[in-house]
Amino acid sequence: MSEIAEKYRGLISLVRELYGSGAVPLHEPRFLGNEKRYLADCIDSTFVSSVGAYVTRFEGMMREITGAQAAIATVNGTAALHMALILSDVRDGDEVITQPLSFVATCNAIAYQRAHPVFVDVERDTLSLSPQALRLFLVENAERRETGCFNRQTGRRIRAVVPMHTFGLPGRMDAISGICAEWGITLVEDAAESLGSYIGAKHTGTFGALGTFSFNGNKTVTSGGGGCIVTDDPQLAARAKHLTTTAKTPHAWDFHHDEVGYNYRLPNLNAALACAQLEQLPAFLENKRATASRYAAYCRMAGIPFMSERAGTTSNYWLNCIQADSREERDAVLAYSHAQGILARPAWVLMPQLPAFLNCYSAPLENALWLADRLISLPSSVRVDV
Ligand SMILES: *Cc1c(COP(=O)(O)O)cnc(C)c1O
Repeated sequence: MSEIAEKYRGLISLVRELYGSGAVPLHEPRFLGNEKRYLADCIDSTFVSSVGAYVTRFEGMMREITGAQAAIATVNGTAALHMALILSDVRDGDEVITQPLSFVATCNAIAYQRAHPVFVDVERDTLSLSPQALRLFLVENAERRETGCFNRQTGRRIRAVVPMHTFGLPGRMDAISGICAEWGITLVEDAAESLGSYIGAKHTGTFGALGTFSFNGNKTVTSGGGGCIVTDDPQLAARAKHLTTTAKTPHAWDFHHDEVGYNYRLPNLNAALACAQLEQLPAFLENKRATASRYAAYCRMAGIPFMSERAGTTSNYWLNCIQADSREERDAVLAYSHAQGILARPAWVLMPQLPAFLNCYSAPLENALWLADRLISLPSSVRVDV
């Protein structure tokens, strides 16, 4: 038997024990609650499109879950991020600091505003933006002026920092929000993967001016497609609602739009699904935590590094994740598991290695490069038998 098979056979058996026979996808949705009932109700109401009671209810549920003062539904997480950057006054030619280890949506949203992503390294323990690396980048390159924070090398304004809570593991937002405040830079959290993840008792996505969530089909809970912006600032909230709903001024019959708006509305049909799913969030989180502790216990015994939540934080364990010893080992593990129908995945190709972002500035990315070679995400769907 190959060395890889010897080292990982037990882990593959555990995946089989957890998820049964046949192909095991990385993350599939579960519809175990009121989904069909709410969808039928939504269709019966005829309000299937861009307004409706489920949108309002969804926003209320998101306020309650996150503790944010306001929640604005959007058509997907990318649109939520794009809008959050617009609301942060990110403009053509600005710079936005983000992490190289993320899903492409984070960078796409920056590019939609014709701003320049600047890549700063992540930490090995959280897989999220490193406050030390952020501070070092700013000390070496930035200066605070009356009109904001500027990059001395490029002359561009550094408008926002967008960290992301990778796989649901909470990043160090206390430190990052302190640095952003010190330098006069807006903090926007990409919390697409971290619904149900907390730092202390505070929900991820609520540490900056704005936070965004995704309800795509592969996330912890799904609305088919959907997103949400959260904020504690009533003015930003009002503006988010206005701009995402075509910038229409309220009137009984007149079609008046007071600026260029966006059709980033979440259809009521999707919101109905989201409401039914959010009702199950506590049960899903408990279920995922039980799966994570099975993986963690096995990995500890087998000497395989498993990514656990750091002390003082709660991860939603959206995707459970291990570290292989090398890129070669990672690829061998992926080949071995895929041959057996277990659809484990590597982390994303780093953003500065994608054609669209090849020419963007990167600070030293030692940890991101190291992690990208080694991370493997394991099947992590909610288990139905638990
Ligand atoms: C899922 C995700 C998004 C948003 O994705 P949508 O498919 O547009 O909802 C954004 N950022 C990250 C890191 C994600 O994982």
